[in-house]
Amino acid sequence: MKNLVCTYCGGTEMVRGVQTGYASITKIKGWRGQSLYYDICANCGTVVRSFVENPEKLR
Ligand SMILES: [Zn+2]
Repeated sequence: MKNLVCTYCGGTEMVRGVQTGYASITKIKGWRGQSLYYDICANCGTVVRSFVENPEKLR
């Protein structure tokens, strides 16, 4: 995993979270529902990055 730096506090310790259920990203142009993952700064809680696990399935 690439080293991420929090743009808010400069922290480099990240925790990864996943959003599922109602908030999962789904069905634009027939996407299968995918969970949205977050890398969150462990120091201040800022979401530094959000992404889906399988971007190749979006095409
Ligand atoms: Zn931070």
